[in-house]
Amino acid sequence: MIAIPVELKKLKVEDEFSKFSHIRIGSTLPYFFAPQNYNQLRNIILWATKNNLEVLPIGGCSNILMGKAHNTAVISDQNLPRKLEFRTDSAICSGNLNINYILMQAAKQNLSGLEFLAGIPANLGGVIKMNAGADNQNISNILQKITVMNLAGKIVEYDVSELEFDYRNCKIEGFILAASLKLSAHTDSYKKIKKYLQKRKASQPLKSNNLGCFFKNPTFASAGQLIDKAGLKGFSYKNMQVSKLHANFLINNGSANFQQATQLIKIVKQKVKEKFSVNLELEVKVIE
Ligand SMILES: Cc1cc2nc3c(=O)[nH]c(=O)nc-3n(C[C@H](O)[C@H](O)[C@H](O)COP(=O)(O)OP(=O)(O)OC[C@H]3O[C@@H](n4cnc5c(N)ncnc54)[C@H](O)[C@@H]3O)c2cc1C
Repeated sequence: MIAIPVELKKLKVEDEFSKFSHIRIGSTLPYFFAPQNYNQLRNIILWATKNNLEVLPIGGCSNILMGKAHNTAVISDQNLPRKLEFRTDSAICSGNLNINYILMQAAKQNLSGLEFLAGIPANLGGVIKMNAGADNQNISNILQKITVMNLAGKIVEYDVSELEFDYRNCKIEGFILAASLKLSAHTDSYKKIKKYLQKRKASQPLKSNNLGCFFKNPTFASAGQLIDKAGLKGFSYKNMQVSKLHANFLINNGSANFQQATQLIKIVKQKVKEKFSVNLELEVKVIE
């Protein structure tokens, strides 16, 4: 265990990670912090990098399966400052704002462009890092600029043209603090949001403890279909289950732990490999 300086100890979160995680898995972590301002964030990042810990920013925790995290400084965005400003054709938002809050506020201003993200239980920083999307649209399509605190503790602004995005990934290191998003004037935003939410409700087990799609879709097929055709829809391993509604959703049925979740991942990968010779790649970030 690496000694934590007194000034950082005050920012340490002692709660179990399961309280934060959308899949309700995770114990108390050795290096879990919730800074309240950018100076504190910088101090945590510099201390972590000096001690060779991986820096893991977290937002909505809707895409992270957390193990013991012995080599990781987990840094929550929850207590950092929040800002949301609308212009005639854009919005400037803090990375720690929930994406549903941002899109509802945009709709109130008759600004459109974010509706496809409705129902994703995430914060903007996580949405950008994961290049999240739905309905053939990704956040990178509407991003203009992002502001990041890099691993040297410096605040840097990038234009979207300087960033590399691919499927469910943005190749950027550091903590995303804010972004500007391109929007357009429209009055039918609420209607669009309703349509996206209905679609999501019909196809995803939204009331369960899950992390959305666990695996990336291979280029030629949907991971959910492959898992389904491998006969695993509804399959249970201890307290973990492959959803009966959407086979790419792995669900914690109550008291599952990290080991059970990783074991179900292993079983799913193995069966799909046996049946289709396809190596499923994780979309969810697993921290050992
Ligand atoms: C019910 C459900 C439905 C979902 N539907 C979709 C969907 O339709 N489309 C889709 O793409 N995803 C979907 N997801 C997955 C998930 O919501 C997205 O990946 C989302 O972008 C994760 O955001 P988050 O704030 O929860 O990030 P977290 O889970 O907290 O973190 C995810 C990754 O982002 C990084 N990160 C988080 N915040 C920051 C930051 N401020 N700066 C830098 N890096 C950061 C983390 O280090 C980690 O690598 C769904 C998940 C659930 C539970």
